[in-house]
This record gives sequence, C-alpha cells and structure tokens, in this order.
Amino acid sequence: MSFPGFRFKQVRICSSSNASASTQQEHEPLAGPRRNKSKLGCRECKAKRVKCDEAYPICKRCQRQGLVCSSAPRSSQWQVETPWLSLQPSTLVNRRLLQYWLEKVSQTLVIDPENNPFPFLTLEYITQSPALLHAIQSVSANHEQYYSAIAPIIALEEHGKAIACLRREINRSQHAPTAHFLTILLLALAQGADSDMTDYGKQHLFGARALIKSMLQDTSMSTTNYHAFRLCLGMYLYWDACSSFLVDPCEPDGLNLLNMSDTVHRIGDWHHPMYGTCSKLLFMIGNVGRYCRHILDSPQNRDLLQEAILEGQLTTWKASPPNPGLGHLYEAFRKHGLIFLYRARAHAKSSCLADPGPSETQEYLIQQYAEETVRHLMQIPATSNYLNFQALPLVTAGSELSGSNHFLRDQVRHRLRAIYSLNRLPTNLLALQGLEEIWDGRDSGNQSFWLLHMLQNDRRLLLG
Ligand SMILES: [Zn+2]
Ligand SMILES: [Zn+2]
Repeated sequence: MSFPGFRFKQVRICSSSNASASTQQEHEPLAGPRRNKSKLGCRECKAKRVKCDEAYPICKRCQRQGLVCSSAPRSSQWQVETPWLSLQPSTLVNRRLLQYWLEKVSQTLVIDPENNPFPFLTLEYITQSPALLHAIQSVSANHEQYYSAIAPIIALEEHGKAIACLRREINRSQHAPTAHFLTILLLALAQGADSDMTDYGKQHLFGARALIKSMLQDTSMSTTNYHAFRLCLGMYLYWDACSSFLVDPCEPDGLNLLNMSDTVHRIGDWHHPMYGTCSKLLFMIGNVGRYCRHILDSPQNRDLLQEAILEGQLTTWKASPPNPGLGHLYEAFRKHGLIFLYRARAHAKSSCLADPGPSETQEYLIQQYAEETVRHLMQIPATSNYLNFQALPLVTAGSELSGSNHFLRDQVRHRLRAIYSLNRLPTNLLALQGLEEIWDGRDSGNQSFWLLHMLQNDRRLLLG
C-alpha cells in the first residue's frame, strides 16, 4: 500500500554553535534518513559539555550510560507543502504542532518510518474532523514537553476542544469511524500526561471498543473501507493486548469476542504499520490478559479448558517475520503471554489450599522465558523503530528476573529509559519504579510479579 507523497520544505535555521546548518539540502522527504543535525546535542551531553552524536531517539552516550536522552524542543524546521491546508481556518490549525506530529510523533506509532500511513491519513481526515486536528495538537504539545505533570495550557485546551468536537461530530451522526477512532486513540495517548497511576484511560478504551463494534457490524467497512478498517482493527488489537488485564472483569464486555476472533482470522496476518504480521498473536495476548486478570481476582474460578486452549495457541503460534528484528519482537510478545499465563496460574493454585502450589518445573520455565524475552529484546538495537513496542514484554519478563541476573536487570533499566526517550510517556518511568520495588522484594524473599504488584498497589499502568 503506498500513499501519495507530500514533501517538507526545510526552513533555514541558524544556531549559535553552527551557523552553517542551513546548508543542508533544501528538500527532504518525511521518511528520508534523519540527518537534520543541529549540532546542539541532547540535554544530557550539553550539561556535561561533551560531544553528542545526536542519534535518535537516544544518543550513543546516553545509551551507554543507560540515561534518558532528551532533546530540547527545536524551533520549527519544517513547513508542510500542502497548499489546501492553508484553506483551513487558521484559528483551528496550529501549524507548528501539526508539523511536529507529522515529523516526530506519528513516527513513534509505526515500526517502519518509510511506510507510515498516519501523516497522509491524518492530513486527509482533519479536513473532515476538527476533533482529530485538536487531538493531534494536544498529543504534540504534550510530547514536546515530555508529558510534564503540569501539562502545557495549549495541550489542555486542545484536549478539551477535541472532546467537544468529537461529541458534536458523533451527535451529528457524521459517518467518519476512522477519523473518530484515530481521535480516541490520540486522546488516550494525550492522557499519558496524567500522572494518576490508577487510570489507564478506560473511557477512551471503551469508546474505541464501541467504534470497533460498529465497524464489525458495518458491512461497508469490510468492502469499500477495507484498508481503514484493518488499520483500526489492528490498532485496537494492540491496544487490547496492552490493556485487557487492566480492565476490571466486572465491566461489561462490550465486544463479541467470537465475532472478533472470526474477523481476525479472516483478515489473516497482513502487515500492519504498527506491528507487522502478528495480529493473531496480539488477539491471543489480549485474551490471555483478560483470563489472567479474571483468575487473579477470583482464583476459585479457574477454567482448565480455557487455560489449555490459550497455552496451546501460544505455544504453537509460529512467527513469519519479515526480518529478524521483528522475529525477536514477536518471540518477546509470545513469551510475555506465556509468562503471564503461567504466573497467574501458579498464583491461583497457591491461593487454593487444596492445591500444592507452583511446581519447580513451572518456576524454571518462567525464569527461562523471562531471560529469553529480555535477550530477544536486546537483540534489537535501541535506535530501532521497534523500540516503542517493547515496554510490556520487557516489564513482564523483567519483573521475573532473579537477583543473580544483575546484567539483564541493568539491560531492562537501560531499555525502559530508551523507550521513554522515544515516546516520552511517563508510564515507562513509573513501570521502572515498580520493577525496582518487585526486585527489592524478590531479593528479600517476597516474590511478586508484574500484574499482582500492580493490583496490590492499586496501579493500572498502560504500557505499549
Ligand atoms: Zn547526547
Ligand atoms: Zn543523549
């Protein structure tokens, strides 16, 4: 699938340290190599007055030292050459924030910047949906400021406008499910600014569910809007895989999972720009998460048949990755699912007096999968675009590492900070804090694991 290209025109910028920066080539496509060096370096290198190689999203020095790498917000370097955009009422469009989305934030949503449908899609849909435009501008303003605890006024304003517009658009029964889905996804992302550890963005997730439900029922979506439908469904599958265990089991389901399963299998493993060819695996992981949360809340309700089915699906799932890096990512996802399942099962068993509790073989397997998961993820360079999709398996596996695994624990710390350097979502740092607590507990004989630790501490961190 290719999209009509649009170009960015680089604006002349001068920095005090290098006034010749403007001699770079004048035109550069969005997806081209990121060579727009400013010679300013990241904040960490600047503070130490050392040379920074400006690798994105994390420079070499920060990577080596396991630091968060933060670049200072730059003055606008690009101008979108889309003449019709200027036809939009100027009161709505904040060109700088829109450019920032096209140039930077939208790139964090895909595994391959060369094949990113979001810039084109959003430019197409914002002409129909002011809600989407405001949601984009809110996310950009937040991302630019590292989702600071005191959100920039403009991010809050844009967030409010997006919600108001979305309500109006839905009430007018304006048929724009894709634009509405993207808006809700971005609103959820903008909520990454919220330091409330108990809110995983439930309202947004449920809104997205309702939209997916109506898309599944709408026959025109599977014919005329097939591409947009697959794109939204895939985004939902990823979102579900990252959040199903955060949802209280007493909340109404909202989706017909059988219908969903049929659709996922019918669509098959096509290449989704967010995660490639693992839609079925993500659907399984979502189901595993739902089941694990269910038996953690009520261990007496274990369903041995369902457990066996889920385990069988995960153990027999075979990846057909387009490249080795994605193969490592898929294996990490698959083992994350198995660790989740085995750990929840062991916990449920130990909660029932009649049951002898976790067996040594089960414990050994969890340890083995945890180490393998971290090793798989470390095979992927920290500068890869696959970085953004690693937090969940990294944390699940990381929480299982024993005290003798100093080296791997350090790798997990470094990797989480690298992920934060890219997507800037504070949940990464909060998760690291949670991991340190679990590790301290484990080292002094109190065993816990990621999901249990979150539930016991009343946290609902959405990673992904
Ligand atoms: Zn640096
Ligand atoms: Zn750095």
